[in-house]
Amino acid sequence: MTDEHLMMCVDSDGKQSLFECTVTGCGRRLIFDHVDARLVILHPGQSTARHHGSTGLVGLTGHLAP
Ligand SMILES: [Zn+2]
Repeated sequence: MTDEHLMMCVDSDGKQSLFECTVTGCGRRLIFDHVDARLVILHPGQSTARHHGSTGLVGLTGHLAP
C-alpha cells in the first residue's frame, strides 16, 4: 500500500516554484524549474510515498521519484 501525499506550491517567481509536502512528518520539498522543466529535490522526505503536485502540473508525479 503506497501512501499518497499532496504537494502544494508555496512560492513561485514565475520561473521556479517551491513545492512542499502537506503531510506532517514527511517534509519533502522541491523546486520545479519551469524554464528547464526539471525538478530539484531539496529534501526527499518520505521517498516511499507517491507525491502529487496540486497546481495542475499533470505528469509531475512520474518525475518525482529520485
Ligand atoms: Zn510527502
